[in-house]
Amino acid sequence: MKYWVAAAVLASTALAAPAAAQAPEVTYIHAGHLLDRPGEAPRGPSTIVVREGKVAEIRAGLVPAEDGAKLVDLSRATVLPGLIDMHVHLLGIGGDPLQARLTRLNTEPEDAVFIGAGNARRTLEAGFTTVRDLGGSARGIRALRDAIDRGDVTGPTVVNAGEPISVTGGHGDPLNGLAEPFAHAVAESVENTCNGPDDCRRAVRRQVGLGAQVIKFMATGGVLSNVSGGLGRAMQPDEMKAIVETAHALGRKTAAHSHAAEGTRAAVEAGVDTIEHGTFLDDATIKLMKAHGTWLVPTMLAPRAALAQARGGMLPPATIPKAEQAAAAAMESHRRAIAAGVKVAFGTDTGVSKHGDNAQEFALMVEAGMTPAQAIKAATVGAAEALDRPGLGRIAPGLPADIIAVDGDPLADVRELEDVDFVMKGGKVIKQEGEAQ
Ligand SMILES: [Zn+2]
Repeated sequence: MKYWVAAAVLASTALAAPAAAQAPEVTYIHAGHLLDRPGEAPRGPSTIVVREGKVAEIRAGLVPAEDGAKLVDLSRATVLPGLIDMHVHLLGIGGDPLQARLTRLNTEPEDAVFIGAGNARRTLEAGFTTVRDLGGSARGIRALRDAIDRGDVTGPTVVNAGEPISVTGGHGDPLNGLAEPFAHAVAESVENTCNGPDDCRRAVRRQVGLGAQVIKFMATGGVLSNVSGGLGRAMQPDEMKAIVETAHALGRKTAAHSHAAEGTRAAVEAGVDTIEHGTFLDDATIKLMKAHGTWLVPTMLAPRAALAQARGGMLPPATIPKAEQAAAAAMESHRRAIAAGVKVAFGTDTGVSKHGDNAQEFALMVEAGMTPAQAIKAATVGAAEALDRPGLGRIAPGLPADIIAVDGDPLADVRELEDVDFVMKGGKVIKQEGEAQ
């Protein structure tokens, strides 16, 4: 037994060793318009020089490529940093809950990871070069993250949460609604539920042990769980405090799934870094978020997708009233938060909606009161700040060459981002099509 554990540790260490992805040494990118620092004015025609996967320099005008360098002509396109989605679920079938339920009993964890690899590729091809994965098998997402980092799988850089921490019976308890024979089989492997502060500290440490880079917890009930517990606060304030303190002490940021204002307030007071969904924000909660500098990740795509699925009979009956409530309240809630100046980072909860459709969130953000420039900033510079990865979200010398392009002007029509024509990740061209050739 001891030998087996030691061998597994050795194997996982070997797997984690980085290997450089294949990329041409030098690439010159001719950009018609360059939005290298979203939030600031774009530049006119510019040349980005990429060396060994990183941006080496940005020069004004369309500078001829040096000998031996590859030239990418995006002189009729708008070039901007790779997008960041702060809330996705890569593993397993996304956007089709009926299919997911039908195939669950015959799906191995390995299947979920390979399906996740396909989802990762679609996400990257849609222009998202970094995602934060907020919940799924901790082992599976760690394996996918590392496979992408090694270059074995094509996908965005993944910042992963592992399994979300939930109270027993809360949104995220894998035993909810399971028939007795299956509940027995599943119960042995449940590690993400906790009750009371000490037990919740254990759950955080366990997820970190499984490779979580960020800790997600369920402050309130959720739309998609098969219980009728509503969307109210599920976790006690002392449990949230224990989770956030333990995660921060281990150098991990925290994300709270939260619908009801009571849950959001308790999570913000506990020191959480991002509020996911924030479906029912009132003025007092908005004020509190501003005072604490808490980020809102609105995920406006999710309630729309969930409502369509619930009404279409693809979800259990208990989810229908919750989906109705959430979809009705979310837009108004986010509109108030945006008007008040709460910090917003782009996130979609993709996995509820379909992988690759992530950019549809931009139009909803604009509908809720953001300018296209603010929405793009939320998916680049803003998200990088919320992730505490200042090397992402900009195109600048020394930073990884995560670069995309669209053939229209996304600052005039943000829906241009739903059709990304060029994607480069770490200096490697992933996609190049249409006008942007
Ligand atoms: Zn989610």
